[in-house]
Amino acid sequence: MQKKQNTTGLIWFRNNLRTQDNTSIQKAIQNHDKIIAIYFFDPKYFKEDEFGFQKTAKFRAQFLLETITDLKQQLEELNITLLTFFDAPENQLLNITETYKVDTIYTQKEWTKEELDTNHLVLKTMSDTVNFVEDYDQFLYHPETVSNNFSNIPNVFTQFRKKLEKYVKIQEEVSIDKLEDSNLIPNPTEIPSLIELGFNDFVMPKKSAFPFKGGETAALQRLNYYLFESNKVGFYKKTRNGLVGIDYSTKFSPWLANGSLSARTIYYQIKKYEAEFGSNQSTYWVIFELIWRDYFKYISLKYGDEIFKIGGILERNYQWNVDKNCIQDWINGNTKDDFVNANMIELKETGWMSNRGRQNVASYFAKELLQDWRIGAAYFESLLLDYDVHSNYGNWMYVAGVGNDPRDRKFNTQLQAERYDANHKFRKLWLVKTLF
Ligand code: FAD
Repeated sequence: MQKKQNTTGLIWFRNNLRTQDNTSIQKAIQNHDKIIAIYFFDPKYFKEDEFGFQKTAKFRAQFLLETITDLKQQLEELNITLLTFFDAPENQLLNITETYKVDTIYTQKEWTKEELDTNHLVLKTMSDTVNFVEDYDQFLYHPETVSNNFSNIPNVFTQFRKKLEKYVKIQEEVSIDKLEDSNLIPNPTEIPSLIELGFNDFVMPKKSAFPFKGGETAALQRLNYYLFESNKVGFYKKTRNGLVGIDYSTKFSPWLANGSLSARTIYYQIKKYEAEFGSNQSTYWVIFELIWRDYFKYISLKYGDEIFKIGGILERNYQWNVDKNCIQDWINGNTKDDFVNANMIELKETGWMSNRGRQNVASYFAKELLQDWRIGAAYFESLLLDYDVHSNYGNWMYVAGVGNDPRDRKFNTQLQAERYDANHKFRKLWLVKTLF
């Protein structure tokens, strides 16, 4: 394909914060002889939500800053300059396209409400001489290969997974070529500090189960460690319900959530591992879980804003309570249940909670305390390092009985504690206060 002469392609980074396997970068390089990149720390993601939680709390803010710092370096290696703004895209993009003679904006395709609102605001400011090229780049199974009518996506995960595994091929990763260094431009912008974003500096507790940094470099190191250095992937199915330590599960989720790691990259690295060391149930099970991740994205494509509504995708008319003291006790780890409390304290102190923990505290919130599940989901949205709109709201609906669980279970948190924390190691870690 012929490159357009004297035009600039602008890569607008959103939740695709990586340089490997990135369709927007690949397309921009194919089409233009000049390329720049941009990222917005949009103030709307740092404001309070309707329930009074800050939409992004300090843990994910710090992780995002580390991610963008790394992205800037990785792009520099490709001779692409990353401009960064602590401002809304709709306030800046018009000016940027005029200053740098941008012809086309390349970005990841998003479909949830807040992202679409931003798109509309941006498009309103922009002349129609600027093209928008949006690509789904957050999936394992690309939507183009799965469905041209998302209303046909099955509501039961197993049906969805079996069909995909049988009929759909996972696309290859895209490759990216380096540009000439003449593509670099002077950069008048700087990445804001945590304090500028409105937070105090903090130190992550040493006992955090997620002591890693944000960014593609750290993500690829973790991937390599979990597969090839430690062989942990070969035991994943036996350890994945763990609660203590860094290796019981992959811990890929925070990088996957902001796109600094691609699900396809994980898939092809697992295939490479299997070719060298053999496949087993555990190596498959990581892929199985990535299909769950895809599934919640397809459910949100199918149902749109329904995933945020109190009745969920099932439009259930349950009675929910909003008892502020009860909710605060859950948040602070002051309920009658010590297993729930330990998990909630872990989340509050580190921004991390295991999958086993999440299922229990969410079930307790929705089915024992009978509180409006959307408030629990909003609290998770604020605190979680790996917050992902589709996985969070999809899982919360599932646990609250307004989503995809065909069995509509309630977790017995006491039995769960006996089963997964028989020796109290996890509860001691988070409940026992030390003096020094
Ligand atoms: P692993 O066990 O190593 O799994 C590998 C990958 O598979 C994960 O990184 C993740 O991308 C995917 N995955 C695993 N389990 C699930 C699942 N149940 N749903 C979707 N994808 C899954 N995950 C998020 O990424 N962001 C969220 O905001 C989020 N909110 C959740 C809220 C609730 C109430 C519950 C019950 C689960 C939530 N999860 C969420 C799913 C799951 O708990 C995390 O993905 C997982 O704990 C992350 O740890 P890991 O990377 O070590 O996972």
